Amino acid sequence: ATTTRRLAGTAPLPPAPPSDYLINLSKSQGIAQGLTGAIGYTPLIRLNHLSQQTGCEILGKAEFMNPGGSIKDRAALYVVKDAEERGLLRPGGTVVEGTAGNTGIGLAHVCRSKGYKLVIYMPDTQSQGKIDLLRLLGAEVYPVPAVAFENPQNYNHQAKRHAERLDNAVWTNQFDNTANRRAHIETTGPEIWYQTGGKVDAFTCATGTGGTLAGITRYLKDKSNGKVKSFLADPPGSVLHSYLQSGGKLIERSGSSITEGIGQGRVTDNLGPDVELLDGSLHISDEKSIEMVYRCLDEEGLYLGASSALNVVAAKEVAEKLGKGHTVVTVLCDGAYRYADRLFSKKWLESKNLLGAIPENLKKYIVL
Ligand code: PMP
Repeated sequence: ATTTRRLAGTAPLPPAPPSDYLINLSKSQGIAQGLTGAIGYTPLIRLNHLSQQTGCEILGKAEFMNPGGSIKDRAALYVVKDAEERGLLRPGGTVVEGTAGNTGIGLAHVCRSKGYKLVIYMPDTQSQGKIDLLRLLGAEVYPVPAVAFENPQNYNHQAKRHAERLDNAVWTNQFDNTANRRAHIETTGPEIWYQTGGKVDAFTCATGTGGTLAGITRYLKDKSNGKVKSFLADPPGSVLHSYLQSGGKLIERSGSSITEGIGQGRVTDNLGPDVELLDGSLHISDEKSIEMVYRCLDEEGLYLGASSALNVVAAKEVAEKLGKGHTVVTVLCDGAYRYADRLFSKKWLESKNLLGAIPENLKKYIVL
């Protein structure tokens, strides 16, 4: 379906979030109060080689250092806390979500540490490895036929109905539950501001639910009176780059990308109001993303998943656009651990026509 939505000019900025997070943060530097106390406050890593090459400061927020190994730990904690605060989840309750990836892992950790049951619905096209991991983290997993969102049997709708059938249960609905975005307005955004001392010129990242991009953008725009620029980075098969470039025309989703966890076919509620705060967008090809996976490993010593590498490519392109002397921040969403059998496999790279994208001197890393 094609719909149009007018993009307004600059939306009014929200008031500063009432956050004593950084004060609590300094207290939590000693002993984290359980697993949930160890989520967030990740290092902001200067990418030394890329910074030297661009003449800019390129900084990556090390989200792979969260307990569950990804940026989604923050959203997982916030959607559960939100359900508790709204009285939807009481001791012994059940959390239900539709996810095939990092959100499920984050929720599994958070639910175990808080004593909730976790039920996960996912498309049956996902690898056995993902199902096994969620099950060993204590989740009940239902792989269901991979059908489009419009179909009532889609995994998201099944998750919603499952929660509705139970007492003391909540469907956390990561795509349209704005507690997800709030995690980044109240934690990731303030951390970036604090860690850079407010010296940040631009932020860029890709979107899955849109929570990360929207939340960080909103906080940084607010703190800087709109001065920090923010750019969406979009992989092949996602519609948001063309949506922004066309001034709000939503095209049919087509094509795919090797960058798992990102790419979107609609404007989610998490992205919704904040899409108008963005200063632009970049389309990043799989060739560039995979090359950056290898470059980050070789030059920076960082073992990153493909969505993080895409974000680094975007940060480099934003830096080149702004010119020398600027500070550009992005997020390093997760590590390459769960994807190693693909990203470093000759056979897989050939099957995706990406072997040629790896520079000759970096081919030594193709060991699988
Ligand atoms: N990278 C990875 C590896 C992810 O799993 C996700 C979440 N799907 C994202 C990036 C995007 O984050 P968000 O949902 O906040 O847009």
